Amino acid sequence: MFGVNETLSRVFNVIAALGEIFLERFVIVLLYPFNPEQRVFVLWLFTSLLFALFVFSRSLPRIRNKNTSVLSDLWRFLFPKEVWSHASAWLDIRYFFFHQTFRVLLYEGPILAAVSTLVFQKSSALLMSAGSQNPPAASEFLWALEFIYALFAVLLIDFVAYAIHAYQHKNPFLWEFHKIHHSPPVMHPLTNYREHPVDNIFYALGHGAAVGLSGACISWWFGYVPETPTICGIALFSFLFNSLGYNLRHSHIWLRWPGKWSWVFGCPAHHQIHHSFHPDHIDKNFAFIFPVWDVVFGTFCLPHDNSKLQIGLGDGQETVYRSCFDLYFLPLKNSLSQLKNVFLP
Ligand SMILES: [Zn+2]
Repeated sequence: MFGVNETLSRVFNVIAALGEIFLERFVIVLLYPFNPEQRVFVLWLFTSLLFALFVFSRSLPRIRNKNTSVLSDLWRFLFPKEVWSHASAWLDIRYFFFHQTFRVLLYEGPILAAVSTLVFQKSSALLMSAGSQNPPAASEFLWALEFIYALFAVLLIDFVAYAIHAYQHKNPFLWEFHKIHHSPPVMHPLTNYREHPVDNIFYALGHGAAVGLSGACISWWFGYVPETPTICGIALFSFLFNSLGYNLRHSHIWLRWPGKWSWVFGCPAHHQIHHSFHPDHIDKNFAFIFPVWDVVFGTFCLPHDNSKLQIGLGDGQETVYRSCFDLYFLPLKNSLSQLKNVFLP
């Protein structure tokens, strides 16, 4: 048995160690703008700002106020009162720091790596039993193989993400967790981070499986796993995905690509429609990178303007999420009561 002093000392040590972990993590979160893997990396924010300036220049004849300067019109366009006077916008900021700091406890990285290794090994063995592995290709074609590998991997990962996302909307148990991402009635770039830990784990499992499977298929097909092509050290498709106005997806700024390009690569308007509760928009646009999945499975919707856009849940439930605590624990409470109703009717 430990004495009272020894027990207190152990408790104090545990609290100090946890404090150190969370403090370290908080500093990492503060440094997200300098991390290219994060959506709020300065380059992704800057390219989004350029797209926003383009939309502003197109909207200027309509929104120009003769009594104020163009700069104040621009400020109101970028930071409208309707968004920033809403409590939800500030909850998103608090939740960003809260969830990203405590996310360290989810062990998403190790889960993703373990699942991807396991799926890689199992599917490699399965493919090898179906036929022998091809010999490595000639080195002059390596750049082409790298591109094909990256495209195949990103298509597979995006398809798995599409399937998981659609299931989160259809399954009432999972919807309780995903719902918090749809609950804000106004959006800004940090709204992107309003996700429940259960959602994060679910995605990590799917992402890990898709990475492992794509690696196994390519390794069997090409005889090895090629490098990922990069731009300035950042994976090619990650660079394109983030630099094409990613941060406007969760914002009030409506932007769609011309013609059928919006079918090929996701635009901000595509994801804003996904966040709309207008009857025409419900359960539409589940895809993240390639809207072609929505086109193929009949969930694509992209009107020419945002006149029908109604962001939020539309059932009044937005108001139940008032704090970070609500965003973490109300989905758990609601999903547990759903399970109770199933098993103890
Ligand atoms: Zn969704």
